Amino acid sequence: MIIDIHTHIIPPQLPDFSKEFGYGEFIQLQHHHPKKAWMIQGDKKFREIDINCWDVSVRLEEMEKFKIDIQVLSTIPVMFSYWAKPKDGLKVAQFLNDHIAEIIHQYSKKFVGLATVPLQDINLAIQELERCKSIGFKGVQIGSNVNQKNLTEQEFGEFFAACESLDMALFIHPWEMMGQEYITKYWLPWLVGMPAETARAIANMIFSGVFDKHPQLRVCFAHGGGSFIPTIGRIEHGWECRPDLVAIDNPNNPRHYLGKFWVDSHTCDHKLLQYIIDEIGVEKIVQGSDYPFPLGESIPGELVRTSPLTSEQKDIIFNKAPMEWLKLQVE
Ligand SMILES: [Zn+2]
Repeated sequence: MIIDIHTHIIPPQLPDFSKEFGYGEFIQLQHHHPKKAWMIQGDKKFREIDINCWDVSVRLEEMEKFKIDIQVLSTIPVMFSYWAKPKDGLKVAQFLNDHIAEIIHQYSKKFVGLATVPLQDINLAIQELERCKSIGFKGVQIGSNVNQKNLTEQEFGEFFAACESLDMALFIHPWEMMGQEYITKYWLPWLVGMPAETARAIANMIFSGVFDKHPQLRVCFAHGGGSFIPTIGRIEHGWECRPDLVAIDNPNNPRHYLGKFWVDSHTCDHKLLQYIIDEIGVEKIVQGSDYPFPLGESIPGELVRTSPLTSEQKDIIFNKAPMEWLKLQVE
């Protein structure tokens, strides 16, 4: 059985939130072809998406074709809308969550849901997290930063505590990549910025002590943890040579935290996948394809399937590790 924990979905139609709230560049969908739509942000085309981004029957057909048994559904990070007024951010989150809730109820054996929450207001975020728990979600997806605020304990500790007490898995996805306005050419925000953004989130959580303060928190980072694990030697060396800068909130060696969080398998590279397995253990790697986007796996599961890993290791990545991270029971 294969569980793909990293797939994105959007409702087929979105309300005109900018008109309803009277401000802002909330994403709009413009269907210009029966199987294609533009995501529009303000007056700019953000991304062209295909029918598999919103049509559940097409997704089910493709899952059959790619031998994916269960997709874990999350919204597209640009929909987070953390910049909106809190009550409006809540409305957007509720709209997106209700859409995913419908699908996971209708096809409970094929789809699992990750919620989105208005993190610009911790109380509203927790309120929506509780609601989503009660309607069947197994976890929540959040951004690597919230309006460029780092995910440090001081700002987000209450939310992490709520994830722990509600037993909700936490998926952290890069978005609004730091410095992206300076690297607009060559798609560099996606190629260079995204891995760095994820590393930023992991480093902030380790150095601010999140993993010690919230030992029950089950966190998974997208894209193999970005550039964090490949640069752990440098990060550890910095901790050794300048503890006055690095170890100010947490005295522990950052390497100590490898194996305390999950990462998805979407590294696009067999050697890097093996390196990550060596560093954090295969039981902390979960199949993630970033379906249905071009930068994701064009054949979900293909990287692991064609890797030189043993069938036992593949089985861990495809189902044992995802089930443990999500606390899923599948018969
Ligand atoms: Zn993604």
